[in-house]
Amino acid sequence: MGKELFHNLRLNDRDIQKALSRVGVFITDYLTGENLSSNLWESSSYKFDPHDKDESFLGQLHPEDRQRARDTLERVYRGESDILDMTYRLCDSDGSCRWILSRGLVVRKTDEGRPLLIVGSDSDISELKETEARLRESIEKEIKRTEELETLRQIISSISSSLDIQETINRILSEMSRAIPYESCSLQLLRGEYLEIAGAEGFEDNELVKTLRFPFQRKGSLSTRAIQEEKPFIANDLAREFPAFTQPFKKRTILSWMGVPLIAHGNVLGLLAMDGYSKNQFDSHHLELAATIGNHISIALENAMLHEKAYRLAMEDALTGLGSRHRMTMEGRFLFETAIREGKEISFAMLDIDLFKNVNDTFGHDVGDVILRKIAGILRTHIRAVCLLARFGGEEFIVIMPNTGSRSALAGMERIRKEVARSSFEEIGGGVTISIGIYTGTPRSGDGMNSFIVKADKALYRAKQSGRNRTETDRD
Ligand code: GH3
Ligand code: MG
Ligand code: MG
Repeated sequence: MGKELFHNLRLNDRDIQKALSRVGVFITDYLTGENLSSNLWESSSYKFDPHDKDESFLGQLHPEDRQRARDTLERVYRGESDILDMTYRLCDSDGSCRWILSRGLVVRKTDEGRPLLIVGSDSDISELKETEARLRESIEKEIKRTEELETLRQIISSISSSLDIQETINRILSEMSRAIPYESCSLQLLRGEYLEIAGAEGFEDNELVKTLRFPFQRKGSLSTRAIQEEKPFIANDLAREFPAFTQPFKKRTILSWMGVPLIAHGNVLGLLAMDGYSKNQFDSHHLELAATIGNHISIALENAMLHEKAYRLAMEDALTGLGSRHRMTMEGRFLFETAIREGKEISFAMLDIDLFKNVNDTFGHDVGDVILRKIAGILRTHIRAVCLLARFGGEEFIVIMPNTGSRSALAGMERIRKEVARSSFEEIGGGVTISIGIYTGTPRSGDGMNSFIVKADKALYRAKQSGRNRTETDRD
């Protein structure tokens, strides 16, 4: 019975043929030219033709899958493989395709190894493929997201690692393009009534752009709008939405714009503005990224600004704008150490306003302050750039003159003393004078800067003792 059934099974019994076809079986007999297609193929317009080779078969496949299928079939025809194993898209005339997995075995072959009978089965793996594609997509998304997070981490760490404002701005501009696809970008700081461009990237002349500022309240300004609304926004069709938008130093037209207000602890610092040459260049994902980075930029900028302010406060005398005593200590030490290392002379001058108490007593402290500021101004304009000038305290100033001998220090200080004496101050209807003490020496290793200051102060004392409005010198 087995033999008979086996013999009939293939081509004679229609019911069995149908059943086999329905479960996906296919049988191709190259000797007789008979063929049983699986139901998946039966529903296509393919008709088996032993003389046609496989052109009609391949014609049913998605064009991208044909070559691969042809190679597999040819390996089997040449007798190189007894196994048929391929996946392809089988397409209907309406263009809809299903993914099919075909697996078969060569059951009989010629003496040369060519197939005579192939038996196999087809299965529809469309769902599997779809799941696989979805999975691949979500894995790719996840990888992209992880990479993006890493980039974000690097950007944030880079922009947060400097306390220098310009350095921070430069880093922001060079790092942002790693996350957002823009053609040009500017960082604008809100200073009083103006938005000043503090950094620019991607313009034809970035340096020129950096000199620009414009009134914050300007009508139709995208920057103003982003800042006033205190949230980032995108304009993806500038020509239509904001025809008033100006494009400084641009050969190409900016069609998209994204602005991120920079706000730290409730203080509006400014804005990061990004330009694109294409319409719809920015999407909500970019906006989200820019907002996240924007928060860190704001904090980094605020830190740098606070640091700069603290530094300025420490290094600058608030009343006169001259160097502070702290700055004198810091930078003076550097000059002093250099003199030691190079074996060069260095001169220290102490300057004190004569009988300044009288000015205060007669005209009041405020007028005294004005005179102090004016004298500071005279000192500033007459002291060489290599010298260090600072307010030492009260109405006393110090000048440190590197690489300067006694004679030349005296000449320089005398010029200043005379200049002050020659000046008239309208606030007090007359003039004031200063006394100066200089000490010059070649410091050696182990010497302290303070001993030079003390000696200059002693010379100053002598100048006061000898009648004021004069310069006394001392040297080692
Ligand atoms: P001398 O010629 O001996 O230096 O006389 P002097 O009056 O200047 O004496 P002294 O140096 O002892 O007094 C300094 C005065 O300078 C005391 C103070 O009233 C004044 N002074 C110090 N710092 C300031 C300041 O910041 N503003 C004003 N307006 N006055 C100051
Ligand atoms: Mg004094
Ligand atoms: Mg004085």
